[in-house]
Amino acid sequence: EKLQKQREKSSKPTFSYEYFVPKTTQGVQNLYDRMDRMYESSLPQFIDITWNAGGGVLSRLSTDLVSTAQSVLGLETCMHLTCTNMPVSRIDEALQSAYDSGCQNILALRGDPPVNSEWTQVQGGFKYAKDLVKYIRAKYRDHFDIGVAGYPEGHPGDDTDDSELIDYLKQKVDAGASFVITQMFYDADIFIKWCKKVREAGIDIPIIPGIMPITTYAAFLRRAQWCDIHIPDEFMKQLEPIKDDDQQVRETGTSLVVDMCQRILDSGYVTHLHLYTMNLEKAPLMILERMNLLPDQEELDGENTLAMLPWRKS
Ligand code: FAD
Repeated sequence: EKLQKQREKSSKPTFSYEYFVPKTTQGVQNLYDRMDRMYESSLPQFIDITWNAGGGVLSRLSTDLVSTAQSVLGLETCMHLTCTNMPVSRIDEALQSAYDSGCQNILALRGDPPVNSEWTQVQGGFKYAKDLVKYIRAKYRDHFDIGVAGYPEGHPGDDTDDSELIDYLKQKVDAGASFVITQMFYDADIFIKWCKKVREAGIDIPIIPGIMPITTYAAFLRRAQWCDIHIPDEFMKQLEPIKDDDQQVRETGTSLVVDMCQRILDSGYVTHLHLYTMNLEKAPLMILERMNLLPDQEELDGENTLAMLPWRKS
C-alpha cells in the first residue's frame, strides 16, 4: 500500500505560484504572510516573483522579496529579470543578490516599456531575452536554471508568424534556457497544438503552462484582452449570464479552468501547473483542491520531501 501511495505521489502533477511585487511596505508584509500560509497549506514546488521592467524602485523590492522568500522563508524561489532599458550594472546587482540568497532559478525576459511609451536602447544593454540568457550562462555557468517566456498564441502586438516565434524560442533555448513558462491562455486546443509544434522544432525542455484563475468577470475579460488570447465560446456562454455575481463567476470560472488544466495534463505535454495568483489565495487553491492536487495531512505533517523541480535532473 505504501509503495502504491508513493507511485501515485510521484506521478501526481506538481504546481507553483507566481506573485507580483506590491507597491507598499504593508503590501509586502501581507505578501510574506500569504506566501508562508500558502506554502504551509499546499506545498508548491516553487514560487516566482515578477520584475518591474526598467529597474526602478519596485525592482529593488523584487530582489528583497526573492532574498527573503528563498533564505528566510526557505521557499524554492525563481526571480523574474528583464533586460531591456536597464543598465547592465543593475542586472549584475540583481543576479548577485539572487546568488547570495541561494536562489537558483531565473526567468530571463526582455520586458515591456511602460504603457504609452517606448524604450530607448541603453548603451551596452541587451535587446532580446536570449541576450540575457547567454549573459547569465556565461557569468554563472550552471549555478542558475534559466527559464524563458513562451507564447502559445503569439506575442501581443507582434504579428510575427507562429513558426518564426517558435524559432525565436529555440534561439533562447540554444542560448542556455532550461525551461519555458507560458503566457496565460484559456483555449486548451491552441495550447496543445503549440506544444506539438514546439516539440517538432526540437525543443525538449519542460513546458510549464501559466494558469490564470478566474476571479471576477471584468478581470477575466481585461486580462484576456491585454494578452490578446482567444476565449473559447464555452467560457463566454457560461460566464456572461452570471457576470454580476462574483461568487458564481469564481465557482464557474474555477470549473472551466479545472477542465482546461485536466485536458492539457491529459495531452501528456505538461506535468506541472504554474498558477498566476495575482497575490490572491482563494482562487488558486480552489483550482488545486478541485483537481485533487493539494497534499493530504500525512504529506503536510511529513518531512518536506518535495518532488524534484520539473527542470532539475538531479
Ligand atoms: P523576447 O523573447 O526577447 O522577444 C521579444 C520580442 O522580440 C518578441 O516580439 C519576439 O517576437 C521578438 N524577437 C525575439 N527574438 C528575435 C530575433 N532573434 N529577431 C527578431 N525579433 C525577435 N514582463 C515584465 O516586465 N516583468 C515580468 O516579471 C514578466 N514576467 C513574465 C512572465 C511570463 C511567463 C511571460 C510569458 C511574460 C512575462 N513578462 C514580464 C512580459 C515580457 O517581458 C514581455 O512579453 C516582453 O514583451 C517579451 O519578453 P520575452 O522575454 O518574451 O522577449
